Amino acid sequence: MTRLPGERLDRRRGAERTDLADAIAPDALPVGVLALQGDVLEHARALAAVGLRPVAVRTPDQLAAVHGLVLPGGESTAIARALERSGLSGPLTARIADGLPVLGTCAGLILLSDELTGDDERLARPRGLAVRTERNAYGSQTASFDVRFAVSGIAGGPMEASFIRAPRIDAVLDPSVEVLATVDGHAVAVRQGSIIAMSFHPEVAGDHRLHALLADDIRRRAGR
Ligand code: GLN
Repeated sequence: MTRLPGERLDRRRGAERTDLADAIAPDALPVGVLALQGDVLEHARALAAVGLRPVAVRTPDQLAAVHGLVLPGGESTAIARALERSGLSGPLTARIADGLPVLGTCAGLILLSDELTGDDERLARPRGLAVRTERNAYGSQTASFDVRFAVSGIAGGPMEASFIRAPRIDAVLDPSVEVLATVDGHAVAVRQGSIIAMSFHPEVAGDHRLHALLADDIRRRAGR
């Protein structure tokens, strides 16, 4: 398994947590976390918690070896530039179009959106999700907030999630997009085919139920 950078950091800090690798079953399916920029480690933990094997994806070869991928939050412009530099941009667009199960949070949602408002529309990105999204529409870093809301089709009560300079889904562009949750009249979690995306960060609060949906898709596709 490719080590994720945060694991080394955690060990240096003497975190009480055991190594992620210890908790992963030998036959767990390898699933990538795009590890160019953003909150990679939290997603790796979430994937391990739902029975998958997290691997860092920074190169086309690493992408080719995974059964699914998380596009983490971070800064979408920085991730988009790094996608171009790493040679991942073309292969990632192709795998998403081919039905690779994908989960995108926040900046990940931005990169998956078929349309972005204003000048952001020029951002080079893989796309695949028929929504129109506005970057930073929920305000600045200081306007970040936590909120509780129900997610349809997900048991276990409301979700408590962080919105951090979050993008807002302004429009759903195709009837095949299923809205899983709304906040203030806007979709905040959606699903279309093999793509699940949300404007918030469930992994920050440690809520792994959306990652569990991804895991179901991945296992179904892999025939497990
Ligand atoms: N504001 C960031 C962007 O536009 C997204 C923030 C996040 O991922 N938490 O890329």
